[in-house]
Amino acid sequence: MKVIKFGGSSAADDIQIAKIKNIVESDKNRRYVVVSAPGRRFEQDSKITDILYSCFSSREQNIPYEQLFQVICDRFYAMEMNLGISINMKDDLADIKEKFQKGASLDYMASRGEFLSAKMIAAYIGYDLVDAADIIKFDKKGRLLEEETAEAIKDKLKNHERAVIPGFYGSRPDGSIKTFPRGGSDITGALVAGAMQADVYENWTDVSGFMVADPRIIKDPKPISTISYMELRELSYMGASVLHEEAIYPARVANIPINIRNTNEPDNPGTMITAEPCGEAGDRIVTGIAGSRDFVVIGINKNHLATERGFVRKLAGILEDNDVSLEHMPSGIDTLSVVMSKKNVNGKLDDIMNEFEQQLKPDTMEIFEDMALIATVGCGMSFTPGVSARLFTALADAGVNIRMIDQGSSEMNIIVGVSNKDFEKSIKAIYKAFIE
Ligand code: ASP
Repeated sequence: MKVIKFGGSSAADDIQIAKIKNIVESDKNRRYVVVSAPGRRFEQDSKITDILYSCFSSREQNIPYEQLFQVICDRFYAMEMNLGISINMKDDLADIKEKFQKGASLDYMASRGEFLSAKMIAAYIGYDLVDAADIIKFDKKGRLLEEETAEAIKDKLKNHERAVIPGFYGSRPDGSIKTFPRGGSDITGALVAGAMQADVYENWTDVSGFMVADPRIIKDPKPISTISYMELRELSYMGASVLHEEAIYPARVANIPINIRNTNEPDNPGTMITAEPCGEAGDRIVTGIAGSRDFVVIGINKNHLATERGFVRKLAGILEDNDVSLEHMPSGIDTLSVVMSKKNVNGKLDDIMNEFEQQLKPDTMEIFEDMALIATVGCGMSFTPGVSARLFTALADAGVNIRMIDQGSSEMNIIVGVSNKDFEKSIKAIYKAFIE
């Protein structure tokens, strides 16, 4: 059994919804379908969810919102007509508008894009509609109730062989609607997949899975056919724009593989995210390369630092007091580098330096402000001699000076710090050395 989720671009209009129908019908195991609200049809277009949020803020500021609301109505009417179904969208939208005029909440408004999308798609593909408010449960403070939700999903879906479920929202005990953060339909999909013990959770978007490197840097990078959760975490932490960690978590704890697929290219197998720690790496050494710019490093030198008790605790305490998170901390015998993201440390650097000075009493300190970090990730790197030699040679040959090196004990991730200006050059060099 497969649980499948379609993102906003896959539900943007009737043409996309017709593709959903083909995809669902081409595999009878695709029994539970979670859908987003209609997204953008073209670059300058608006997502239905964004227009709903705009309606709400207009209402709050006493600005007329009729026209905005009409845009939403027109898009749904057009889809209903072009799909050749009649489900009385007019009545639904009139009802939503009336509730809205009477003061409906932001979450209620935002959730209606998913609700109407699911209603329409269910009618069009001939599946039952199951309202997410009945199966995704939050407590009264708006925290997800994981166990109750899993129970409710199992209980409800027992009676529905095939169903479409709106993503993004659920309900509190009093029945009021609560949404997940933006992009939260992924979470709904993962929750349904987890509760139903799906064999696979398919996440259909507008890209054919993940690439080994950022296509803005590497032209036509190789696709990643399988990747483990662990590798994915390392890559997404380093800035590869992939799924939200929270979004895949429920499927991950249930050990369900996730398949990222492209609605516009349904024959492409996409990327399979496997639950096993190291997937089916085969003879592949590097799975992916990702990185981001703009880190700040404070280098601390102090004689006998390595043997001083409590040094790191004090250091960590200072960062905690300043609400700055420590990204990495490579260390030597008498030296230690504190790596933080520039965004996070903005405006606090002087204070942190002063506190370091007073409490840590270093011999010297230096700041390096424009560092980029690049992670080369792959389970195949563990216990493979020569990987770092190849990596460093590639960077040296490209004329890149490495400012920092960090390799976790799992050996599946080597992070190098280079100057911001060498960022792209370094990624190209690593790609060439391991992938091309
Ligand atoms: N429609 C919601 C959003 O735009 C949720 C989703 O698409 O996952 O954020």
